[in-house]
Amino acid sequence: MIFERVVGFLLMMVLAGLLGFFTLFEGRSMLGALTGMCVAASLLYLLDMVRAYRYLRWLRSDDLSVDIFKTGYWEEASGRVRKMLKQKDLSRIASEDSLRQFLAAIQASPNGVLLLDPESRIQWCNQTAAKHLGIDPQLDSQQLIGNMLRSPTFSSYVSAKAFDDEVIIEGRLHRVDNPHKVGIQIFPYGDGRMLLLSRDVTSIEQAEVMRRDFVANVSHEIRTPLTVLLGFVETLQTLSLTPQEQNNYLQLMAKQAFRMKSLVEDLLTLSRLEGSPFPSLQEWSTIDSIVHRCEEDAHGLMKALNTDGAAMHQLSFHIDEALQDAEVSGSSKELASAFTNLISNALRYTPAGGQIKVKWSRIGDSAAFSVEDSGPGISVEHLPRLAERFYRIDRSRSRDTGGTGLGLAIVKHVIQRHGGQMQIESKLNQGSKFTLLFPAVRLRLGQTVA
Ligand code: ADP
Repeated sequence: MIFERVVGFLLMMVLAGLLGFFTLFEGRSMLGALTGMCVAASLLYLLDMVRAYRYLRWLRSDDLSVDIFKTGYWEEASGRVRKMLKQKDLSRIASEDSLRQFLAAIQASPNGVLLLDPESRIQWCNQTAAKHLGIDPQLDSQQLIGNMLRSPTFSSYVSAKAFDDEVIIEGRLHRVDNPHKVGIQIFPYGDGRMLLLSRDVTSIEQAEVMRRDFVANVSHEIRTPLTVLLGFVETLQTLSLTPQEQNNYLQLMAKQAFRMKSLVEDLLTLSRLEGSPFPSLQEWSTIDSIVHRCEEDAHGLMKALNTDGAAMHQLSFHIDEALQDAEVSGSSKELASAFTNLISNALRYTPAGGQIKVKWSRIGDSAAFSVEDSGPGISVEHLPRLAERFYRIDRSRSRDTGGTGLGLAIVKHVIQRHGGQMQIESKLNQGSKFTLLFPAVRLRLGQTVA
């Protein structure tokens, strides 16, 4: 390009010189040639000045996309500037795009992410952190984190710089009746900056509380009969008793041992239910055979409970016409244990002579098993908690009749594993009705009905 410009300039000089030589100062004088060359050089210089001015004006303008030179040296200069700017623009767009994607990924994180500057001011946070900590990502930007999280636990965590562990504080939505716990951990980075990660630990904390309660309950339930048992052993060892008295004590000891056995069996049943896969949809049992088995169990239980010779319960079993020859699918062992638990409860809590109705009914395109008794009934405030482990209304009545406090928890678990649900209807002094609703997929109607 430079070579072409030099050649072009020299050519212009030669042409202008020749023109001056032949036309100026009465023709053919060197002075004419020099004058022609000077005029041409000045014109070329002026032209370049004008172009340089246009180029500067173009550089200073906002819109560099306009083509001001079509050819030549100045076209290349402006083209190169445009190319450089375009490359910069492309790399800016690419880095903006990666930043956007990076922030979108952090936004999608199930954990809260918050960035703090060296003065502990909030620089940026994702929506999850905002939700956990009650922060407005826009309005609270540049606020001191200490002013936003007014938790003494968090303040001492920050001042002790004990960042190796997570600290648990109460979340923004925390209420006594609706706990919300947030775990926070700080990771220092760069020159005094900090990354704060938060996560919702409410359910983990609740599970931990439940685990602690469960262990305490089990220990208590086992310790009570054990203490009684040890007391009897000591009595037998230290006192000289008549064979009749000894026999009485041994019977009482057997009762306590039996109570512990029932408790351990129920605990094992619960843990088996929790650890095993859902019951199959291929194993079918006829409702007739289930009812027959329930009847046998119920009569055995009724006799066992009725040791003092009081009037027996009036126990009846009924299957809806629509469910004749029908079958239900699932684990027959689990279902039998659930049905027996409900019948056993009705027998144990209903005073002697009371009525107990066991029924299989057709409900819509599904079926329900229910046990209704004329017992003491249950007041409404107990109903939602009845299926919790070890929840009892009358602890001593439950224990006296051999209850473990786990029966309804087992029943609820079994029916939920079969895709159904348990309903409890009861009013104080008006009896109770426990119903197990089966989903339609687990019911197969008999040939005669279908
Ligand atoms: P338990 O082994 O104590 O019977 P459950 O889990 O079977 O434990 O029952 C929990 C509590 O529900 C019982 O302690 C009892 O207070 C109450 N309950 C269960 N069934 C009946 C019923 N048919 N009538 C009255 N109360 C009942």
